[in-house]
Amino acid sequence: MPSSLGSCIRFVTNIGRWIPVVFVTGVCLWVLYAYNFVFIFSSVQSHVDRVLLFIGFHFLFIMFLWSYFMTIFTPVRPPPEQFRITDEVIQQLGTADNAPAVNDILKRFVRDVGLPVRTLDSRGHIRYCPRCDKIKPDRACHCSFCNQCVLKYDHHCPWVNTCVNFCNYKYFILFLFYGFFLCLFGLLTLLSPFISIWKHSTRGGDIELLFLFLVSGMFGLSLACLFFFHLYLIARNRSTIETVRPPFLENGPCKNAYHLGIFNNFKQVLGNQIWKWPIPIPSSIGSGSNFPLASSNASRYSSSSHNSIDIETGTKTVSSNNSERYRVIST
Ligand SMILES: [Zn+2]
Ligand SMILES: [Zn+2]
Repeated sequence: MPSSLGSCIRFVTNIGRWIPVVFVTGVCLWVLYAYNFVFIFSSVQSHVDRVLLFIGFHFLFIMFLWSYFMTIFTPVRPPPEQFRITDEVIQQLGTADNAPAVNDILKRFVRDVGLPVRTLDSRGHIRYCPRCDKIKPDRACHCSFCNQCVLKYDHHCPWVNTCVNFCNYKYFILFLFYGFFLCLFGLLTLLSPFISIWKHSTRGGDIELLFLFLVSGMFGLSLACLFFFHLYLIARNRSTIETVRPPFLENGPCKNAYHLGIFNNFKQVLGNQIWKWPIPIPSSIGSGSNFPLASSNASRYSSSSHNSIDIETGTKTVSSNNSERYRVIST
């Protein structure tokens, strides 16, 4: 039957998507074994060196795995229900015969509900997802792998089998950070044994040490490229998709729409309390549906009074300036 064939294909596809995660976990377990039993407890003679290497490696390894699994298992949060269009609006959309008419209906809905929507599509129309029946919040995109709209969409990453998005972006950055430093630690501590093996191989475990060094170099290089790219993106308060498709505001595309200054941009992702920055626990600022604009853009939206909706509580308020309307809600 077609429906059971379809669900069978979906099931196999879903299982297949976990293969990269299983591969990374397998490599991590092998690294854990090889670094401990082939290197620290077989090749290192000094007890002090063994203790220092053991502590350094396990600290980075635990932080890396913690960040990795937080990235994978933090649920993708859909846009709040306030963004869902009503049956009445759906009926009206059915009667609209051109794009401007559709936009007028959606514009009226956004204004009546008081949704904090500033980004438009490339035609200057309200962004609407017909698959989710929701107005897209600023910086949200529909992901066809996750089959839903995703808040502050960055990209869908096969290595974590989920979207990198508002809810797990901090963990993803820490995963890159600890992964890069774990590889660097491996490279630096294995450099001396690598050189002596290269000159004269003598033991059975030498091939594993050699391989461990090469794995550290290979993964370290890939993680370094991604990590420094994302550091640049955070410094500019951009997502990966926004580097190729800048946010489209009332006056056109604007690459630096959310640029609040480098330190404030880092706080948006990592939180207000600096001690929480290196720990993979929730601390990002905001709700994911409503982002403060750079002051040059914010002034355009502050001239008139608007109805606005508090995305956290769903209550409607009337405010007369932008800082009030788009206030940052710390979680
Ligand atoms: Zn959608
Ligand atoms: Zn996705």
